[in-house]
Amino acid sequence: MTVELDDVHKTYPGTPPVRSLRGVSLAIAAGERVAVVGASGSGKSTLLNLMAGLDRPSAGRVSIAGVDIGGLGDRELSGIRAYHIGVVFQQFHLMEALSAVENVAAGLLYRGIDGRRRRERARQALDRVGLSHRCDQRPAKLSGGERQRVAIARAIVGRPALLLADEPTGNLDSVTGQEIMTLLHALARDGSTLVVVTHDRRVADALDRCIEVRDGQVVRP
Ligand code: ADP
Ligand code: MG
Repeated sequence: MTVELDDVHKTYPGTPPVRSLRGVSLAIAAGERVAVVGASGSGKSTLLNLMAGLDRPSAGRVSIAGVDIGGLGDRELSGIRAYHIGVVFQQFHLMEALSAVENVAAGLLYRGIDGRRRRERARQALDRVGLSHRCDQRPAKLSGGERQRVAIARAIVGRPALLLADEPTGNLDSVTGQEIMTLLHALARDGSTLVVVTHDRRVADALDRCIEVRDGQVVRP
């Protein structure tokens, strides 16, 4: 799935306002595997959130699969997210009261699939990330690497064409981080577009292309 940004600005209100992105243009082709690097505060997460349709630009255009998301209502945008986009965060964002399989099944809530079928597909996704033996555990009982695998399973359970990850190895030791990256690569091999925000040089080097952000602008496309 393609992602295109055309002169995108994002300003957060406040005194003074924070100009997080200042005129970003870039295009990511379907099936491409891209790293986004840059110092802390340079605008990487803002960029990823816009690509994920989790936020809207203050100015400029964001197109996902050729559709300008600025022209969509909230319901239509949620629909695109639910069917086509998976997101993984550094802090996992799992629901502590739910088991692994229930957390993953939650990734299908907006797809109109009944509960039994959701759990069945969640088990398959947990199997793909090597966690079928941990389905019934709550997050508190899992290691950091296992939690991130659950979060990845939740992101891929709907087989999204666009998989976005914001510092997915940032809270993990380096060996576990490498395992998580190997997994993301394997999952992207079936043709989905992969965008990974990372501080880790090795993670960035393993991807096809590296976009560098500095002070809200892309300095290397
Ligand atoms: P990075 O992910 O590269 O560390 P961010 O995109 O998170 O950078 O942040 C870029 C700038 O925007 C920072 O100055 C940050 O403080 C600011 N920022 C990010 N999110 C918000 C927000 N929700 N409200 C106000 N300022 C924000
Ligand atoms: Mg960030």
